[in-house]
Amino acid sequence: MQTTLKTDITVKDICKGFIYNELEGKGLFGLSGKLTIQPEYQRNYIYASDGGKREMAVIESILKGYPIGLIYFNIVSENKLEVLDGQQRITSVGRFVTDKFAIKDDNGMEQYFGGMAKDKKAKILETKLLIYECEGTESQIKEWFKTINIAGVPLVPQELLNAIYSGPFVTLGKEEFSNSQNSNIQKWSSYIKGSANRQAFFERSLDWVSKGNIDDYMSFHRYDKNINELKKYFNSVIDWISSVFTDVESEMSGLEWGRLYEQYHKKAYDPAKVSKEVRKLYGDPYIKNRKGIFEYILGGSTDTKLLEVRIFDEATKRSTYSTQTSKAEKKGESNCSNCTTGHDANKNKVWSFGEMEADHVAAWSKGGKTSAKNCEMLCKTHNRAKGNR
Ligand SMILES: [Zn+2]
Repeated sequence: MQTTLKTDITVKDICKGFIYNELEGKGLFGLSGKLTIQPEYQRNYIYASDGGKREMAVIESILKGYPIGLIYFNIVSENKLEVLDGQQRITSVGRFVTDKFAIKDDNGMEQYFGGMAKDKKAKILETKLLIYECEGTESQIKEWFKTINIAGVPLVPQELLNAIYSGPFVTLGKEEFSNSQNSNIQKWSSYIKGSANRQAFFERSLDWVSKGNIDDYMSFHRYDKNINELKKYFNSVIDWISSVFTDVESEMSGLEWGRLYEQYHKKAYDPAKVSKEVRKLYGDPYIKNRKGIFEYILGGSTDTKLLEVRIFDEATKRSTYSTQTSKAEKKGESNCSNCTTGHDANKNKVWSFGEMEADHVAAWSKGGKTSAKNCEMLCKTHNRAKGNR
């Protein structure tokens, strides 16, 4: 790959013909149309998030005369350049000079480019940028893009995969899943954590359809001209979740819905019954892990391990132990009720506190509470033999 350092291109040059697409959240063109700011393998514009702190910092750096770092262009053809690295910074500058956002002046007042003093405007426009123009094959450039550490915000894995497998499939996928204006995002967010800009939904859709083999799937479908399978599978999962669980709970976001769908979507559920059970479990103070409620119900409400039901506290266990033990000693039998009914030597054995465990007399799953009244100490052997209730 060949590189040439350019030191004479100014902010003014870059911003000639700058267009920002609000809908797609992308800076599109600059350098009088010669420069494509956001080629397919670039990620969405993210400097405007977090209240715009990052894009303001770019402008403040320029005003103070600080360097904003190296920028890389890829020479596509004689009159065509693409931003390889620096898209976020260029878009910040372009958005500022087109009055898309304001910075704060020394008195904390909002200041738009259009309202700035002439000398300040000139300072920004005349700032020269350090730009490397690179020429190489597509794979050389992508290999390089994969290894550079992009200033500011590191790439998330899906952004890297989008760069490596760029092509029609990624373009269509991002149009559907990485567009923050997509009206479905609110619904998706009930079940999936993260933001469209940082590829959370695209990544999840790929993860689900590929059963975790995103890399292979993207490689295989790289030149596909449609994303039908991806969309269909994704929508099936989302529809399934929202029809089985009619209430949306915050704990649903980020669960392994792809796996749950595969495991349970062939089973029939009555949404009204499911909803009642969700509400009942949400109201149960003994459930520590609410995230487990959904899989617990899907699996037929048997695997209480998923719920991490609260166990008896130390004080309850100790007082139950001492009551049980003094009764047992008076009768001359074991302090484990199960041992007393046996026929071996343990019939009369008085176990120490450390040799016993607390058990729900009435099982939690049958409505038994985790309170002193429902607590019984059993020897470890007998408690474990009762299994998980
Ligand atoms: Zn026992």
